[in-house]
Amino acid sequence: MATIPAGLPDQLRHYIGGSLVDSVNGEVFDVIEPTTNEVYIQCASGDRSDIDAAVAAAREAFDSGPWPHMMPRERARILYKVADEVTAINEELAARESFDSGLPIRQAKGQALRAAENFRFFADLIVAQVDDAYKMPGRQINYVNRKPKGVAGLITPWNTPFMQESWKLAPALASGCTVVLKPAEFTPLSAELWVQVFEKAGLPKGVFNIVHGYGESAGDALVKHPDVNLISFTGETTTGQLIFANCAPTMKSMSMELGGKSPAIVFADADFEAALDSTLFGVFSLNGERCTASSRILVERSIYDTFVEAYAERAKKVKVGPPSDPETELAALVHPSHYERVMEYVEIGKSEGRLVAGGGRPEGLPEGNYLEATVFADVPRTARIFQEEIFGPVVAITPFDTEEEAIELANDVKYGLASYVWTTNFERAHHVSHAIEAGMVWVNSHNVRDLRTPFGGVKASGLGHEGGYRSLDFYSNQQAVHLTLGDVHTTRFGATGYSQNDPGLAGPGN
Ligand code: NAD
Repeated sequence: MATIPAGLPDQLRHYIGGSLVDSVNGEVFDVIEPTTNEVYIQCASGDRSDIDAAVAAAREAFDSGPWPHMMPRERARILYKVADEVTAINEELAARESFDSGLPIRQAKGQALRAAENFRFFADLIVAQVDDAYKMPGRQINYVNRKPKGVAGLITPWNTPFMQESWKLAPALASGCTVVLKPAEFTPLSAELWVQVFEKAGLPKGVFNIVHGYGESAGDALVKHPDVNLISFTGETTTGQLIFANCAPTMKSMSMELGGKSPAIVFADADFEAALDSTLFGVFSLNGERCTASSRILVERSIYDTFVEAYAERAKKVKVGPPSDPETELAALVHPSHYERVMEYVEIGKSEGRLVAGGGRPEGLPEGNYLEATVFADVPRTARIFQEEIFGPVVAITPFDTEEEAIELANDVKYGLASYVWTTNFERAHHVSHAIEAGMVWVNSHNVRDLRTPFGGVKASGLGHEGGYRSLDFYSNQQAVHLTLGDVHTTRFGATGYSQNDPGLAGPGN
C-alpha cells in the first residue's frame, strides 16, 4: 500500500452540531485506496437517524443562531478566514486527495488555492451585492428582500471531492444557509479537513455538518427530510433523476450538476498543436474522471488522419504511474467497481472503433486500478463509447466533413455539459458555439473558468447553474416587498358607487 498520509484519525466520523460523532447505530464502512484497493481506514456510515441529528443541528443554527442574520461584512470576514485556513492546508489536502482518490499529486496540488479563492469570491459578492428596488412615484416602493433559503443539503461526488464540496459550501454559507454535507462514500478522507478549517475560522456551531455514508441510506434520508429546504447535487445523471423524484413530495429547490459527454470540435484551420495539447489534457487529466472531459473529439476530415496519428503517439507517452509520483500524468482510477465499468467500455470500444492507443493495464503496475491512456478512432455516432459517459481515460475520435455535420454530431448525445471549439475563424467560432447544445463552450481553450461565470449543463447534464451570483440566487429566496406611499386605492367591494377611475384587478401599473 502507498504511504498513508500523516495525521489521520483512527476512524472518520460524522460532524454534527460542532462535534465529531460515531453513527447512532455504530455502523461503519471500509475505505480503500486505489493503488492496491486495500482498506486503510473505516468511516462512520450514516442513515436516517444520523441525518435527523444533523438536520436538527442545522435547523437550530438557522432558526436560532446568528449566522443567517449577520451583516454581510461580518459573514464575509469569517469566509475570508475560511479561505486562509483552506490555503494553509494545501499540501495536506493534496496528499490526502491523491492518496484517497488516486489523483496524480501534481494535479492535486493547488486545489485548495482554487477552493480558497471561491470563498473569497463569495465573501466579496455578498458585500457588494445589490438587489432590485423599484419606485412608482407617489404610489409605491418595491424592493427585493433576499433571505437565505434555510437548511441546505449538499451531496457531492468522488472526483476532486474537496473542490466539489467547496463549490457548494462557499455560496451556501455566504448566503446565510446552514448545511448538511453528504460526501461521496468512495472518498470521504478530505471532507474531514473542513472541520478544522471551519472551527479555526470561527463558524458558529451547527452551521456546518457532515454525515458520511452511502447514497441509498444517508443521501436518500437527506433528500427526503422535510426540514431540508434545498438539495444541491453533483453526480451521475441517473442518480440525479432519482433525487429529482424524491425531492418532489417535499417541494425542495434543486440544483443538479450531472454527467457529460463533451465534444471537442477541431476544424482544419485550428492551431493544430494547441488543439492537440488541450484535447489530450482535457480527457487524460484528473484520470479522465472529470465531468467536463473532452471525451469525444470531432475532427475535420482533411486533417483527420494526421490528427489521429499525432494524438495516438502522444497518448502512448502519457505517463501512467502511482498518484504520489510527481512525474505521473495519469494514475489509478478511484475504485475497483468504477475500474471494472471503465474496462467494460474499453472492451465494448474494441468492437465499435479502431483502438489506436492504450486499451489495457500498463506494464509494471500489476495491481490497483490502472489503465493506459486509451484512444479509439473512427467511432460512429451510434457507438456506446460515443454516446455514454465513461468517466475514465478513454476518448472517441470521429471525423466530420462540414460545419453542419460537426454541430449535428456534437449535439447527437443526451448530454450537454461542456464543449470545445478549435478554429481560427472568428465567425465560425461564434456560430458553432451558439449552435452547440451545451451549458459551456470554450473556444480555443480547455476548461479554464472565471469564477464569475455560470457553470452548469443542459439536457441530461443538469438543472440550474452554479457560479457567480446565480449560486447566491439558488441559495436565497427573493421576497418582493411592496410599500404604499400615500393613499391606497382599492376597489371598494360592498360599498356603493364605484369610481369610474377604478383600477380594477390590473392595479395602477408602472
Ligand atoms: P453518483 O451519482 O454515484 O454519486 C454522487 C453522490 O450522490 C454520492 O455522494 C452518492 O453517495 C450520492 N447518492 C447516490 N445515490 C443517492 C440517492 N439515491 N440519494 C441521494 N444521494 C445519493 O456519482 P459519482 O459516481 O460519485 O460521480 C461521478 C458522476 O458525477 C459522473 O457522472 C460525473 O459526470 C458527475 N459529475 C458532474 C459534475 C458537474 O458539475 N456536472 C461534476 C463532477 C462530477
